[in-house]
Amino acid sequence: KKWVYLFSDGNADMRNLLGGKGANLAEMTRIGLPVPQGFTVSTEACIEYLKENKLTYEMIGQINSHMSVLEDITKKKFGNKDNPLLVSVRSGARISMPGMMDTILNLGLNDETVVGLAEKTANERFAYDSYRRFIQMFGDVVQEIDKNKFENVLDEIKEREGFQIDTQLTTGHLQEVVGRYKEIVLAETGKPFPQDPNVQLLMAVEAVFRSWNNPRAFVYRDMNDIPHDIGTAVNVQSMVFGNMGDDSGTGVAFTRNPATGENKLFGEFLVNAQGEDVVAGIRTPREIDELRKIMPLVYKQFHDTAELLEKHYKDMQDMEFTVEKGQLYMLQTRNGKRTAPAALRIAVEMEEEGLITKEEAVMRIEPLSLDQLLHPTFDEVALKEAVVLASGLPASPGAATGKVYFTAEEAKAAAENGEEVILVRKETSPEDIEGMYAANGILTARGGMTSHAAVVARGMGKCCVAGCEDAKVDEDAKQFRVGTEYIYEGDYISLDGSAGKVYKGSIGTQEPKLSGHFGQLMEWADACRTMNVRTNADTPRDAAVAVGFGAEGIGLCRTEHMFFNEDRIPSVRRMILSKTKEQREKYLAELLPMQKEDFMGIYKAMKDLPVTVRLLDPPLHEFLPTEPEDIEALAKDMDMSMDEMMSTIHGLEEFNPMLGHRGCRLAVTFPEIAVMQTRAIMEAAIEVKKEDGYNIVPEIMIPLIGMKEELDYVENVVRETAEKIKAEKGSDIDYKVGTMMEIPRATLIADEIAERAEFFSFGTNDLTQMTYGFSRDDAGKFIGEYKEKGILPNDPFQSIDVGGVGKLVEMGVKLGRTTKPDLKIGVCGEHGGDPKSIHFFQRAGLNYVSCSPYRVPIARLAAAQAAL
Ligand code: PEP
Ligand code: MG
Repeated sequence: KKWVYLFSDGNADMRNLLGGKGANLAEMTRIGLPVPQGFTVSTEACIEYLKENKLTYEMIGQINSHMSVLEDITKKKFGNKDNPLLVSVRSGARISMPGMMDTILNLGLNDETVVGLAEKTANERFAYDSYRRFIQMFGDVVQEIDKNKFENVLDEIKEREGFQIDTQLTTGHLQEVVGRYKEIVLAETGKPFPQDPNVQLLMAVEAVFRSWNNPRAFVYRDMNDIPHDIGTAVNVQSMVFGNMGDDSGTGVAFTRNPATGENKLFGEFLVNAQGEDVVAGIRTPREIDELRKIMPLVYKQFHDTAELLEKHYKDMQDMEFTVEKGQLYMLQTRNGKRTAPAALRIAVEMEEEGLITKEEAVMRIEPLSLDQLLHPTFDEVALKEAVVLASGLPASPGAATGKVYFTAEEAKAAAENGEEVILVRKETSPEDIEGMYAANGILTARGGMTSHAAVVARGMGKCCVAGCEDAKVDEDAKQFRVGTEYIYEGDYISLDGSAGKVYKGSIGTQEPKLSGHFGQLMEWADACRTMNVRTNADTPRDAAVAVGFGAEGIGLCRTEHMFFNEDRIPSVRRMILSKTKEQREKYLAELLPMQKEDFMGIYKAMKDLPVTVRLLDPPLHEFLPTEPEDIEALAKDMDMSMDEMMSTIHGLEEFNPMLGHRGCRLAVTFPEIAVMQTRAIMEAAIEVKKEDGYNIVPEIMIPLIGMKEELDYVENVVRETAEKIKAEKGSDIDYKVGTMMEIPRATLIADEIAERAEFFSFGTNDLTQMTYGFSRDDAGKFIGEYKEKGILPNDPFQSIDVGGVGKLVEMGVKLGRTTKPDLKIGVCGEHGGDPKSIHFFQRAGLNYVSCSPYRVPIARLAAAQAAL
C-alpha cells in the first residue's frame, strides 16, 4: 500500500488523504510555483499507526525511499557532513485544526552536519543557532521535555553576559547552549540526543501521529463536529532559510483584506528572520507594501503568485512565504478566514470579476455570520478593557449597555426619563413586556433558549442574556450578586447577547451598517431558494422591521402578546375572572376594538403579504396579577372580596400549565374568546381592504390541536363567525382556517386533521417539549450538562432533533399531503430561524419557515443554501 506521496504526486483534490496543507503544497507544485520540495505521509498511515501503535516496516521503507528521492531533487544529502539536507516536519489534517503537534524546523542537524552547514553558508553563528533551535523544538514537542528547562539556559547565559536579546549571543555562546541542551535531553530521557537524522525523522513523524489524540485536539474536534477517526497527515519539506541575511526574510499575507474584504494584498513580513520570529512577536513586522521597496523583484513575483493562487482556488488565500537569498519560496496556502463584512464583499466582488458564479457566492457566506451585521456591537477598543462579570446563554444577539432595573415598571419609568436601561429579572413573564420594550437589553437568571425572555427578546431584536445562573437576583432588595460582587439598581452593566456575556460598567456600542454587498448577495440568495421566509411578529413595528429584512408574510402572530398591553390588561383580567358567559362577553366586547386596531396595523404593515393569526394560546393564569396590591385593586374593581378573589385565582392555578388549560382547549371551554378574536381578524381585514385596497386573506390558526374533534369544534366556531361577519358587511373576502402541529398526537393523525385544516404550521417549540417531555422553561438547568456528558449533541430547542422530533415532522407532512396533496405547510417554532434546521425543513418539503424579524436574512440565506 502507498503510504507516502511526493508533493509532485498529489493535487488539491487529495485533501482527505494528504490533509489540507499537503494537498495545497502538492497543488502549488503541480501548477509550477516555487515550493521547497518534500513529501507527505498520508492520513491513512496515521490511522494505521494509531491502530498498530507503531510505524510499520512498509511505512518506514517508503519514508526512507522518498527521502532518497528528495535528496536527488535538492541535490543535498540527509545526514551528510558536506552538503546536509535539512527538513521541516509539520502536521496537516483534512480540516485545519489547532491543538496538534507544532512545527519542527531544521531536522537533520547533528554534531557533524552543523559543521557542514556552517561551512556551506559561511555563517557559523547561523548554523549553531539553527541547531539549538532544533534541539529545543524536538525536545519540547517530540520528547515532551518541559520547554522552560531550555528557556532557562538561554536566560541564564544572557544574564551572565548582560545581554538583552538573543541576537547578542555569539557563536561561542550558542555552542555552549547546544552542549547544555544535550545534557538536558540526556537527563530527561536517559538517552543522548539522537544524532542519526533517520531516527530523528521517524521519531518526529510518530510524534505528529500521536498528537492526533492529545486532549486539546480531542476537545477541539468535539466542539467543531470533526470526526475522531480521520487522522492527520505529516508533511516533510526541505528547509529554506529566511534568516540568512538582509536579502532573506519571511512573511504571511492574504490576497484580500480579511477584515474589510478590500481587494488588495494584505500582510506582514520580517527581514532576516524565521517563521517563529513573526509569531513570537519579538520584532515588529513590516507591511507587505514595503517589500516592494526593499526587494522589488521578489515583491512582484509574490504579488503575481498571490493573484495566480486566488484565481486558481477561486477564493481569498492566506499564504506563508520565505525569501532565501533573494529567492521566493511558497510554504503554504489555504482559504483565509474573514469577518462577515469581508466575506460579503469578497463573494460579491469575485462574482463581478467572473471568478465565481452567483450560486457559489451564495454558498460562501455562513448564514449565522449575518447576525454580526444586523445588531449593534461593542466598540472594540472599549471591549478590550471591559471586565466580564458572568456568563449565561446567548439568547438574543447584539450589544447593550445601561443602568440596571429590577422591575418592568421601573425600567419603563427610567427609560421615559431618558435613561439607558438594562432589565434584570429572575425570569420574565408576559407582564414584563413593556419593560422589555423600554430596556436596551435583558438579563435573566433562569430559563433556556426558548424561555419567555429569549423568545420575546429575539422577536424585538433586543439583546438578551438568559439563564445566567451565576447571577443571584434579588428583585425585592433591588440587587444581584455574582460571587462576592454586588450590582445595585442604577449601576451600569453591559450585555453581549451574541456571546452570552455580562460586563461590569458601560461599554460604548455602534450601530450596524448594511452595505450594498449585503443587498446584492441577498438578492442572489432569493433567486436560489424554493421555501418562503415569513416572520413571527405581533406588532406593526415588528412586522415593518421584518418586511424591511425581506419577510414574505407573517407565519405567526401571537395574539396574547397584545393582551398584556397596559390599556388592555384590566379588561383581559375582568374577562378571565368573569363568572358567567354574559359577563365575559361584555369584557370581550371591550377588547374587540383594540384587537381590531392591532390587526389593522399589522395588515397595513404587511400590505398584500399573507398573515397568519393564532388564536389565544397561553394558560389564563399568566394574565393574572401576582403582586398583593394589584390583586387588591383588581378585587375592588370587580366588586369581589379579597377572599373570593384569592380563591378564584388559586382556582386557575395549574400544576403543569404547559400541559394544562391552554391552546385550543381555551376555545373549547370559552368559545366566546375565539368568536371575539375571529371578529377582530375579519373586520380588520375587510376594513383595510376597503381603505387601502390590499388583498388580504387572513389565515386563522388554531393552536395545540391533538384530536381531529377539537379542530372540528373550534373550526366550526371560527367559520360560523367569519361567515356571519362577511354577511353583515356584505364582503366576499377570502380567509383560511388551519392549525398548528405541536402535539405529537396531531402529527400521527395528520391525515385526518388535513381533512379540515387548510394549512399546517409546525410549532416545533411545543413539539420538542412534548416529544422529549422536557419543559421549555426548565430544561436550561440540565441541558448544559447533557451536552457536556455527550448525552445530547446540542440543545434540541435551538436546532431540531432530526432523528426524533424531525420524524414527527416528516410524518405530519406525509400524512397531511396524502389527504391534501397541495397542503401548505410551514414551521413557526424557534427552529424556523436556525440554519441547520432549515436544511432539514427543505428536505421535509415545507413551503415556508417563519422566524423572528432579525433572523429573516439568516433564514433567507440558509434556505437558499438548502435549495442548492
Ligand atoms: C411553538 O410551540 O413552536 C410555537 C410556535 O408556539 P409558542 O412558542 O407560542 O408556544
Ligand atoms: Mg406552541
